Amino acid sequence: MSHITDNLRAVHARIERAAGAAQRSPDSIRLLAVSKTFPAEDVRAAFTAGQRAFGENYVQESLAKIEALADLRAQIEWHFIGPLQSNKTRPVAEHFDWVHSVDRLKIAQRLSEQRPDALPPLNVCLQVNVSGEASKSGVAPEDASMLAREIAALPKLRLRGLMSIPEPAADPAAQREPHRTVRQLYETLHAQGLTLDTLSMGMSGDLEAAILEGATIVRIGTAIFGKRDYTR
Ligand SMILES: *Cc1c(COP(=O)(O)O)cnc(C)c1O
Repeated sequence: MSHITDNLRAVHARIERAAGAAQRSPDSIRLLAVSKTFPAEDVRAAFTAGQRAFGENYVQESLAKIEALADLRAQIEWHFIGPLQSNKTRPVAEHFDWVHSVDRLKIAQRLSEQRPDALPPLNVCLQVNVSGEASKSGVAPEDASMLAREIAALPKLRLRGLMSIPEPAADPAAQREPHRTVRQLYETLHAQGLTLDTLSMGMSGDLEAAILEGATIVRIGTAIFGKRDYTR
C-alpha cells in the first residue's frame, strides 16, 4: 500500500473527528486533494485509493497532468485553486470543473466567455482576502457582495461560494478567527438572496478549525502527498 493511501485514510479520520466535534455529518465536507508539484502518478495512486477531486495551482503544470490522466477524465473533478492571470483563463475555462480563486470581475467575465458551450457552467468560488495587507490575492470582504452579484449573473459560471487562504497560525483559536469571518460573510450573502453551498477553507495545518467554522471543502496537499519540493 502506498504512503498516499495511508495518508488519505489519516486525513479522512481527521475530517471525521472534526465533523464529530462540530456536530456535523462528515458527508457535508468534501476532501480536495491538492496535487500541485506532484507527478501524475501520485494523482493516479490517490485515485486508485478512491480520491476523485484534485486541486492544482499552476496552469502549465496542471494541463500536462490532466493530459497524462486523460483516461480518468470523466471520473476526476479538477479544481483550479491558484492565482489566475487574465491571459491564462482560456485553458482553465476549457479543462477545469471548478475555479476557487476568482477575485475580480474581468477574470470571471473571461472564464464565462471562454467556457465551451458543450460543457456545463464552470463552478466558481470567490476568493476573499481575510489577511488584509498580508496578501494581494482575494477580494476585500466589503467588496465581496457586489462582485458576487456580478459573477452570479454570468451565463457560463455557477457561483458556489467563498474561498480563503488565511495567514498560517499555530494556535487553534487564532486559526478559527479568519474562517469565522468568511463564514459570516457567506451568511450575509445568503441573507441577500444569493444561493451558495460552498465554503472552501482549511488546509493541512488548520482543517479542524475550518470544519468547526463550517468548511464544506477542505484543500489538503502536504498531509496527502508529502512536503512539496519547489526546486524540481
Ligand atoms: C497549496 C495549497 C493548499 C494545500 O496546502 P497544504 O498546506 O499543503 O495542505 C491549499 N489551498 C491552496 C490555495 C494552495 O495553494
